[in-house]
Amino acid sequence: MARYKYLIVGQGLAGTVLSFQLHQAGITHMVVDNGHHSASTLAAAGIINPITGRRYVKSWMIDELLPLALDTYAALEELLEITLVTRSPIIRTFENQAQENLWNESTSRPGYGDYVGSSKNPYVHHTHPSYGYGIINEACQVQVGQLIISYREFLIQQGRLINQDFNPEDLQYDGLVQTVEDHTFEQVIFCEGYKAIHNPLFRDLPFQPAKGESLIIETDILLPQAMLRDTVFVAPASKQTFWSGGGYVWDKLDEMPTEDFRLQWMGKLQAIWKGELKVVSHKAGVRPSVKGRRPLIGRHSSYHRMILFNGMGTKGTSLAPYWAKHLIEHLESDTDLSQEVSLNRF
Ligand SMILES: Cc1cc2nc3c(=O)[nH]c(=O)nc-3n(C[C@H](O)[C@H](O)[C@H](O)COP(=O)(O)OP(=O)(O)OC[C@H]3O[C@@H](n4cnc5c(N)ncnc54)[C@H](O)[C@@H]3O)c2cc1C
Repeated sequence: MARYKYLIVGQGLAGTVLSFQLHQAGITHMVVDNGHHSASTLAAAGIINPITGRRYVKSWMIDELLPLALDTYAALEELLEITLVTRSPIIRTFENQAQENLWNESTSRPGYGDYVGSSKNPYVHHTHPSYGYGIINEACQVQVGQLIISYREFLIQQGRLINQDFNPEDLQYDGLVQTVEDHTFEQVIFCEGYKAIHNPLFRDLPFQPAKGESLIIETDILLPQAMLRDTVFVAPASKQTFWSGGGYVWDKLDEMPTEDFRLQWMGKLQAIWKGELKVVSHKAGVRPSVKGRRPLIGRHSSYHRMILFNGMGTKGTSLAPYWAKHLIEHLESDTDLSQEVSLNRF
């Protein structure tokens, strides 16, 4: 019977990045996943946008998160021999003078220089005119869906994947080791995405899962090497296909794409886009969001061998690499866990 230090439950973006960093550090572990059954990662665009929201402010901790994210995904590209990262600017359109003023005011503050550009809007001939626009630099798109599919193959090759719908209630929470199939584990790290709301150990934490949907659209226009953030997001997936998606639904949590979303989203796209639009794929997922919009990380207060790595919300692509490293340092070197993300803050 082989013995491992950690069992990771869930192989979405959070579990993948955590497993990869353990792999880099040579720390023994296995991953159990139910075939990405509820993976919100599969619906995500994997966009890292350094300037977000209606007030055009820097995304929380982006100066620290971005370098580690880029290094981690570059190392994963090398390991898996695939291309994951496309670095391209985001064209942020404005509807009126007030928005443009707010943009100018916000982005002229110290610390914003690296994230603001001055190039031309390459979408100008493809979309109906907007009031104006700003350029966000240092943005990127990571093929997070492809990443978890390829990493699953890697785990299978390494004999480190247990393909199973894992029931946390099968564990002896206070036991010294846990046995799953023919393996024993000293500690368990839960990365179940929004399904943590059913986990008896962590379900009382203030999760606020939000369903979203996404479309891959084919168009007759040759797409520029830039993303567009208008009333909706347009993120090129190939020369003539792009990702667009979003939406927030809190009361119907499932992975089923809906006709309502498709019609509503296509209406929004048709209002800005000059070319033809054809839906080639439609997905849905539930974001593991949390009250206060910060990750939820750390050991269970009573069962110290039960650990949570969750709460990536709408920004898992930038958050997961940094906080996975932070958690591993905490577990392996007993460094303090940041109170901003510690699950004990609730
Ligand atoms: C429409 C949409 C667009 C998005 N766009 C972006 C974006 O552009 N940029 C960005 O950063 N983020 C985006 N997100 C958010 C992003 O998807 C999440 O932050 C991130 O993918 C969450 O990863 P996770 O691993 O925590 O959860 P998940 O991806 O949900 O993974 C959890 C995994 O655990 C498995 N699992 C759960 N329970 C069990 C169990 N009991 N046994 C076995 N396996 C289990 C699941 O099947 C799944 O494989 C978007 C989300 C949506 C829905």
